[in-house]
Amino acid sequence: MNLARLLLRIARSDPGRPALLLGERLVCDYGGLAARVAARAGVLRDVHGLGPGDRVALHLDNGTGFLEALYAVWWAGLVAVPINSKLHPSEAAWIIDDAAAALVFTEAGRCEALGRHLQGGARVLDVQARSAPRDGGPAWPVTRAGDDLAWLFYTSGTTGRPKGVMLSHGNLMAMTWCYLSDVDPAPAAGATLYAAPMSHGAGLYSMAHMLVGARHVVPESGGFEPDEILALSRGLRDVSMFAAPTMVRRLVDACERQGRPPEGLETIVYGGGPMYVEDILRALAVMGPRFVQIYGQGESPMTITVLPRAHIADHAHPRHRARLGSVGFAHSAVEVAVVDADGRRLPAGGQGEIVVRGATVMQGYWQRPEASADALRSGWLHTGDVGVLDEDGFLTLMDRAKDLIITGGSNVYPREVEEVLLGHPSVAEVAVVGEPDPEWGESVVACVVPAPGARFDPAALDALCLARMARFKRPRRYLCLATLPKNNYGKVLKTALRQSLKDGGQGAPDAGGR
Ligand code: AMP
Repeated sequence: MNLARLLLRIARSDPGRPALLLGERLVCDYGGLAARVAARAGVLRDVHGLGPGDRVALHLDNGTGFLEALYAVWWAGLVAVPINSKLHPSEAAWIIDDAAAALVFTEAGRCEALGRHLQGGARVLDVQARSAPRDGGPAWPVTRAGDDLAWLFYTSGTTGRPKGVMLSHGNLMAMTWCYLSDVDPAPAAGATLYAAPMSHGAGLYSMAHMLVGARHVVPESGGFEPDEILALSRGLRDVSMFAAPTMVRRLVDACERQGRPPEGLETIVYGGGPMYVEDILRALAVMGPRFVQIYGQGESPMTITVLPRAHIADHAHPRHRARLGSVGFAHSAVEVAVVDADGRRLPAGGQGEIVVRGATVMQGYWQRPEASADALRSGWLHTGDVGVLDEDGFLTLMDRAKDLIITGGSNVYPREVEEVLLGHPSVAEVAVVGEPDPEWGESVVACVVPAPGARFDPAALDALCLARMARFKRPRRYLCLATLPKNNYGKVLKTALRQSLKDGGQGAPDAGGR
């Protein structure tokens, strides 16, 4: 099963259906897209001499060219290595070399810098260069088996070097079906907006929208501009999009500014990082019931648990708040459990590592047999995330195991403290981390970004913590920051925060201890 057949199928049955749009402008229909993709696949095979299993890196900005290149790679039976376009050329080159990619598609302005950093033999090509004929190439996608590799997904690397997660055509097909059954049964006439990086979640969801023949829309800005997204959705109608929680917050701000809920933007799937209860409650109040949450990781892409729209919107449920603070229940293609340090399954309410098994779980890490064996031991993917399952199967994520703070022998999950602090109107963003403490082992530090115009008031925050949580969990220090350090996917870099604290809090003026 080659994923490129999803494109071929609609191109044959419904060639005139609009496929790619830049803003509201039609770039090509499904028939045209399949022809371009096949032609590019022909060039990859005949001009570059690539054959099944060879890797092709895509170091591309969000654009319709990304989808054209991705499906051409698959059509030719090759393996795609999408790389976040915001990475430094040296970081991108490291990934390209690690994947031993034969070729890399990138933007014209980036070819030279990338070439300078590459050590392996990858050829660098400008994705816009029209060496490809408009037609020709193989009429059918090269046959691929379910366990043949489709996508080497480099982990976002909040610590250390990224690893290449090996995702097969079968893994991604299972993920696609899960989207259509569990997340959003997307209407055939719908549109999907690529506002988040296509090298990550937004691009992974392209297959579900290809399967139903939806319109694939890249905003003209190529990025995430809330006003542009809202205006585009009004024109396009039936729009869905994937958004990181920080993007949701900015959309909510924009709707509030405009004084009206969004029109045409029907579904926002959020995930990839914690969505705090106060934030989703505000999003619901301002934007209405159009949200679905997913929890996944590159190793089981977009597909571990789902919190469906109906549950998010069910204010009448006695455990609504708890459910909003959860990441939902297992996707239909996977089994999810929580285990102790010896791998024993814990009963409901037990806190431990989240493990997953099922059709979406990766084949392993590219050329890292030890890391693969460790992550996939006993037939389960060990996520490195800590969580709790309730009696009904809803999973609450605590934190990455390495972010857990142990102070005076007691565990503090930063997320709990962050949830409380975000309840204070003066707090826009917060990250809680541990810092070495000679007496307690570690002590809790809250790094706070104040809301615009708000006064940073550690005493008020401490009073809130005293009223809402056990004393040992209270931050011992509050730092006032202008921004939180984040990686290219918007995830807070807690390792960088911890390091900055160790280095004396540079860039993080100590604005109040207690
Ligand atoms: P990545 O492999 O880059 O997609 O990162 C995956 C990690 O992001 C997971 O292991 C979680 O720690 C975190 N994550 C993903 N989805 C969620 C979510 N809905 N809520 C909280 N954290 C999440």
